[in-house]
Amino acid sequence: MHTTDPDCIFCKIVRGEIPGRKVYEDADMLAFHDIQPIAPVHFLLIPKEHVPTLSETQADHEAVLGKMMVLAPRLAREQGADDGFRLIVNTGRVGRQEVLHVHMHVLGGKEPLGSMLPRPKT
Ligand code: AMP
Ligand code: ZN
Repeated sequence: MHTTDPDCIFCKIVRGEIPGRKVYEDADMLAFHDIQPIAPVHFLLIPKEHVPTLSETQADHEAVLGKMMVLAPRLAREQGADDGFRLIVNTGRVGRQEVLHVHMHVLGGKEPLGSMLPRPKT
């Protein structure tokens, strides 16, 4: 059984206590649509285990982190992002992470996304 946090919103989705529009599930991963999408395809891929941020991951998370990277392109394609996509893992304060449960945003659509971050004017 994986570690869970009673107050974490994503752990609540994993436990089925609040609804999530599921994209994919297996024994240790869950993917669900973002509640406030910023692209035609925008879902979140999470490990079921509660790990607050990528900074807290350890060597024993290598398998699940690798699985996220391999699943992302497959799920992106299945969701209609068949000509590229973007992965974002906001981490900690500087990364402006709002939900403290490791998650990968998978973003895409038919048209190219906006630039990654606005470039400072030169
Ligand atoms: P961040 O922690 O900044 O990387 O982003 C957290 C993301 O979780 C945001 O894009 C939210 O829209 C999304 N989010 C928050 N609550 C839910 C929820 N209950 N179901 C689906 N997505 C959510
Ligand atoms: Zn959690």
